[in-house]
Amino acid sequence: GGCIMSILTQADDRLNEVLRNLKGPLTDQLVRQPGAFGLGQVPSKQAPDATTSMICGFCATGCSLNVHLREGEGRNLTPTFDYPVNLGMACPKGWEALTPLEADDRATIPLLRKEDGEQHPVDWQEAAETFRDRMQAIIDEHGPESVAFLSTGQICSEEMAFLGSFAKFGMGIYDGDGNTRQCMATSVVSYKQSFGFDAPPYTYKDFEESDVIILVGSNLCIAHPIMWQRVLRNKRNPEIIVVDPRKTETAMQATQHFGIKPKSDLTFFQALAKLIVDRGGVDQDFLAQHTEGFEDYEQFLAELDLEDAVDRTGVSLDRLIEFADLIASGKRVSFWWTMGVNQGYEAVRTAQSMINLALMTGNIGKPGTGANSITGQCNAMGSRLFSNTTNLLGGHDFANQEHRAKIANLLGMDEDRIPPRVSVAYDQIIQRVREGKIKGLWIIATNPAHSWIGRDDFEEIMEGLDFLAVQDMYANTETAKLADLVLPAAAWGEKDGTFINSERRIGIVKRVAKAPGQALSDFNIFRLLSSTWGVGELFKDWSSPEAVFKILQKASKGQPCDISGIDGYRQIDEEGGVQWPLPESEANKSPEQERRLFSDGKFFHPNGKAKFLYDPPADDPEPVCHEFPIRLLTGRGSSAQWHTQTRTRKSKVLQRLAPKGNFVEIHPSDADRLGVVSGSIVEVSSRRGSIEVKAFISTSVPVGNVFIPMHESNTNELTLAAFDPHSRQPSYKACAVRVAVL
Ligand code: SF4
Repeated sequence: GGCIMSILTQADDRLNEVLRNLKGPLTDQLVRQPGAFGLGQVPSKQAPDATTSMICGFCATGCSLNVHLREGEGRNLTPTFDYPVNLGMACPKGWEALTPLEADDRATIPLLRKEDGEQHPVDWQEAAETFRDRMQAIIDEHGPESVAFLSTGQICSEEMAFLGSFAKFGMGIYDGDGNTRQCMATSVVSYKQSFGFDAPPYTYKDFEESDVIILVGSNLCIAHPIMWQRVLRNKRNPEIIVVDPRKTETAMQATQHFGIKPKSDLTFFQALAKLIVDRGGVDQDFLAQHTEGFEDYEQFLAELDLEDAVDRTGVSLDRLIEFADLIASGKRVSFWWTMGVNQGYEAVRTAQSMINLALMTGNIGKPGTGANSITGQCNAMGSRLFSNTTNLLGGHDFANQEHRAKIANLLGMDEDRIPPRVSVAYDQIIQRVREGKIKGLWIIATNPAHSWIGRDDFEEIMEGLDFLAVQDMYANTETAKLADLVLPAAAWGEKDGTFINSERRIGIVKRVAKAPGQALSDFNIFRLLSSTWGVGELFKDWSSPEAVFKILQKASKGQPCDISGIDGYRQIDEEGGVQWPLPESEANKSPEQERRLFSDGKFFHPNGKAKFLYDPPADDPEPVCHEFPIRLLTGRGSSAQWHTQTRTRKSKVLQRLAPKGNFVEIHPSDADRLGVVSGSIVEVSSRRGSIEVKAFISTSVPVGNVFIPMHESNTNELTLAAFDPHSRQPSYKACAVRVAVL
């Protein structure tokens, strides 16, 4: 067809290759045989003929991996020694990063559901035209709010930017959110409100330079194992304090563990703040020069009842005082949090209760300090800045006319192509599907049929759509199986681009393997769809990932995340990644490899000051009761598993390192009371449904609580769809259940 041929003239060689095959039958020659590149596949006498390095595609630690190539294809890998993140280390997922590419169930050709109700192979032209015709028909009939997308923190920044720009400026829709809502929305909103921009202030060296490392709702040992290794490199003999209801692997390694009662974290940190005020531990100079709103917070704290706090948290007053004195001791104190905080119904205020502690003791902007949110997915930070979901490109605001004008001018398009409002949130998109208001949905590189909170009726909700398109590297995820159209995508390692890690470091991703069959990079899928949609002219300059990176650099200019001074992919690749910001004024200089924000005490609000924000603790949306007397906690199961396991399940090595099937951790005294024997199958039920799992008796969970990892799809049949009111992040971490012996 015409549009395909016009792309052909400007596409890269991979797209050309696919397009050349469009007319003919699907040939096997492009589909790699399983096992082609995995560990142990390189005959020992064959040395690699080249090595390149790139960022791992799982978590936001952002480790660099040396990929060893033969004839241009990645055959094996080893962690990079001279990279400032991982210093020669990798976790099991990193070591096995190439294996999921070679799985024999990769999506290799577009699939279209036809009248018989089955998904059938079609060529890319039919796929792209079907996408256009079906989505356009819905928009024509029901308006631009009847179509939305759900994307991911797993694809490259350039791809996210293309997706968000094509969907919003090209297709003309308003709503699209990322699965980053499920992990990082709380941190985004906390930082924006407190600091004036979504700005994680730290660099990983702070793990090594801190005297007191406070890990909150973070099982660093297994969730971010390389960051834990950075903690272990600390030569200052640090106090390592874990605040977590569970006695996690990390809590077992810590010097102190505060096993607070579940969902008492906000009370816990506010009680510490009160004690610091009462005991004269506040850094008055820092407060006066760099913050605002402390007087109100002080008044609020004056009303706080410490006895009630002791009761709510389960921590004695003596221990609270000792901890408060340590935070105010003048030592280098750093606060680190992740999903145990972010995935809560009052998560933003909880994160801010830690930010407040850092501010009131001046523990920010200096080595070994900070209120530091640890990110989850490999490119959640890229999504936060460049995906056009919650922010307009470069951390701009959709609702701000000047920002819209700036971006429209940069992209050479009419300003009225940019929606004047931010997208509704993930849960609101799903709710609108449920209500029949959204009729066309496009899901990219995420698996909500597994991961969505309270997912018991997710399939039913999706059935109400007129058209569901799913773009993924596997056609058999729980979500792809529901699709009317499956768009086969290349994986990490099969395409180029950049990620931004947890400490704001931009790193390079490279193509070291050929995508199977007719799978295209997400970037090229967006090019194909935008061209087929008839808006190719709008994206004529978006010809390659690096060309888009240059556009993103321009979009960031003048923003706190200004990266206009980076000398393209070359500098990122050669200098161990580059942390943002690096404005044009710093171009041509090699920045220090580890940089933190706020060393000048200037925050991003117009007056340069950070804000104290707080609320009293909210009511638990689902307290335990007579019928459901046990609290369910959820979280990561092992360092060998990644989220819904669509990739990690493909590795035999990782499978051997992970628990087999789903299980529930239950305290011995609860097990005794209920007559549960270790290894037996029990039924765990919530108001949403019941699942059967194996019992694992362990003192790692407190009495009255059970823990189930998040990696099996039935866990989210139990969870409660409650949300933080500021960030709309789902509260995965706590709901009421009962356990029964079968
Ligand atoms: Fe990859 Fe994260 Fe493991 Fe590093 S810690 S190797 S980035 S999964």
